[in-house]
Amino acid sequence: METDVRRNPALLKLDLYCKGMRIDDSCLVVDDGGRPILRTRAGLGSGIELILPGGLWTNVPVTESFARASPYVLYREEGSYLIRRHGEPVARVRPAPRPDWYGRTTTGGKPMTRIGTLQGTYLGIYPAHVCDFWKEKPRANCGFCSVGLNLGIDDAGEKSVDEVMEVVRAAREESRITYIDFNTGHYEGDTYLDILEPFVRRVKQETGLLVGVQTPPHHDLSRYAALKEMGVNRVSFCFEIFDPDIFRRVCPGKDREYGHRRYLEAIAYCAGLGLRPARGAAPRARRSLDPWVSNGEIIAGLEPPASSIAAIEWITSVGAIPTVCVFRPLVGTDMEDAQPPRTEDLIPVFRRLYEACMERDLPIGVAPNVHVSLVLLPEECRGLLHNPRRFWRKELRLKAMSLLLRSRLEREFRGALRGRS
Ligand code: SF4
Repeated sequence: METDVRRNPALLKLDLYCKGMRIDDSCLVVDDGGRPILRTRAGLGSGIELILPGGLWTNVPVTESFARASPYVLYREEGSYLIRRHGEPVARVRPAPRPDWYGRTTTGGKPMTRIGTLQGTYLGIYPAHVCDFWKEKPRANCGFCSVGLNLGIDDAGEKSVDEVMEVVRAAREESRITYIDFNTGHYEGDTYLDILEPFVRRVKQETGLLVGVQTPPHHDLSRYAALKEMGVNRVSFCFEIFDPDIFRRVCPGKDREYGHRRYLEAIAYCAGLGLRPARGAAPRARRSLDPWVSNGEIIAGLEPPASSIAAIEWITSVGAIPTVCVFRPLVGTDMEDAQPPRTEDLIPVFRRLYEACMERDLPIGVAPNVHVSLVLLPEECRGLLHNPRRFWRKELRLKAMSLLLRSRLEREFRGALRGRS
């Protein structure tokens, strides 16, 4: 593996998550067309959105206390941005572009950024009110989570379908998004899918964009088959921690309401749905042009690396794709004083992420123009392999699937524009 971060963007992305970065006074990123620092609903992003060499989008921690001790500093030199480490140049980077619609309001007068924000190049929307775990007394929220701190500051509470559609159209037309991620926390009575379905229907009917849904695991698993029929492309379940004892400690609300097992059952059930073609669809066409993936999401750094690797093995063994975040002790959260993980401990975790996905023929990196700033995507972890050419045949096949999907989305987008003109 290339161990020099100047030549390995994947390693640089990981190292920046773990160490954070300081910002020199020479930088005024917002004034230079970049995105402002918004605390995001996923509870793991708080930093500055940058594009690293190799086209890797990232969200670098800058406000947390550990970032103040980082060897990395961002400078603005001769009109471009440069990351230095201990004063030595490491990488030229670009701020993620700030779309024009970030400065506009909906027809109802709400700032569009309070309806949805770009996370890398996809649109993230948190349509409903704050997660109920934050409202209990005493609170039962997850220790790392900042959602209850965000809402009402950077986010807009409940959002109507029409408001969301306005932002979706702006993001599609101006930022060329291909994917929208709807996200909720826990609501009493398992209502989160009822809340999301009207949004999903409108988006699929009017745009054909790829859509993902991230919620707690509904007790009625057949609801996920219905979501798949509706056209949803991705369901994601954040159980965060594979070790049940640490899960119980860090996520008391999730443990009480759902329990570890329900998360795992939902991930496996939804992955199984991908193995059965939808009614009326030829299996091959279904696989390549209307993707369906089940994701199990964990946070590396909240448990020992071996436990994160065990999670990756389990998730991929049932045909699901792991999403692996790096723990960030966000300011104001219950875990703000915890230490972030060490890069060297996480390299084997992310290396295994790539290997396990490829060994099990999982469709990673297929959605076109989806760059994610908050996690190191499985396909980005190729740079952490000892032998990156090991899976070249499978990589070619995935590339072909991605091209097919891109042309389908472009066709549908042009069709939607014609339909509105
Ligand atoms: S379930 Fe946990 S991580 Fe999700 S919003 Fe609620 S407190 Fe935050």
